[in-house]
Amino acid sequence: MAAARELGVPPHYGRERHLRPQREPARLVCIGPDLQQRPAWLRPRAAAAFQRMRRSAARAGIELQVASAWRSFGYQLGILCGKRERGLAMEAILAVSAAPGYSEHHSGRALDLATPGYAVLEEDFERSPAFAWLQRHAQRHGFSLSYPRGNRHGIAYEPWHWCWHAALARRARALNGGRPPPGARDARRHRPATRA
Ligand SMILES: [Zn+2]
Repeated sequence: MAAARELGVPPHYGRERHLRPQREPARLVCIGPDLQQRPAWLRPRAAAAFQRMRRSAARAGIELQVASAWRSFGYQLGILCGKRERGLAMEAILAVSAAPGYSEHHSGRALDLATPGYAVLEEDFERSPAFAWLQRHAQRHGFSLSYPRGNRHGIAYEPWHWCWHAALARRARALNGGRPPPGARDARRHRPATRA
C-alpha cells in the first residue's frame, strides 16, 4: 500500500514479519454494538461462530464484550497516521499495530475482546475469568490467539485479540462428530446462504 509506505512502513514488512496480506470480505454481518456503541462487524461464518461462542460463555457466567471487530484499510491507516502525528517512531508503532493491509481485522475474522472489570486492550485481560475460559474453549469455536508472548510477528502480546480460522473450525467440528460446538441452538438462523 503506497500510503502506508509513505508513512514509513518498510517495503518488505509483510515478509519480514511473517504477516500475510489480508483481504476485506465481500460480506459482513453485524454482531451487535461494540463497547463504544458502534455496530461491530464480522464476515458471516466468523460472526455465527462468535455468536455461538458468546452464548456458550454466557452460560458459564462469562460476559464477552467486543472492543473492536472488522476494521477497513482506511481505518488502520488512520490509526498509524494518528500515532505518527503524536511523534511516535514507525518501529514503535509497528510493535503494537499491524500495518494497513496486514491487520487480521481487515479480514472480518478477528476480534478484540473485553470483559467487565478488566482494563480494555491491556494485558490485565489475561487475569480475567473470560481469558481463562477462552483459553479452554475458544478453539472449539474456531478461534485462536494470534499474538501470544514472543510471537514470530514481532507484535506485542495481545491476550484480547482472537481470530477465527475456517480450518480450525473444521477440525473442531470433526472432533465433535460433525456437530457444531455448544451454543449452536440459534446458529442456523445466522448461517449465511453462501460461504464467506
Ligand atoms: Zn486486534
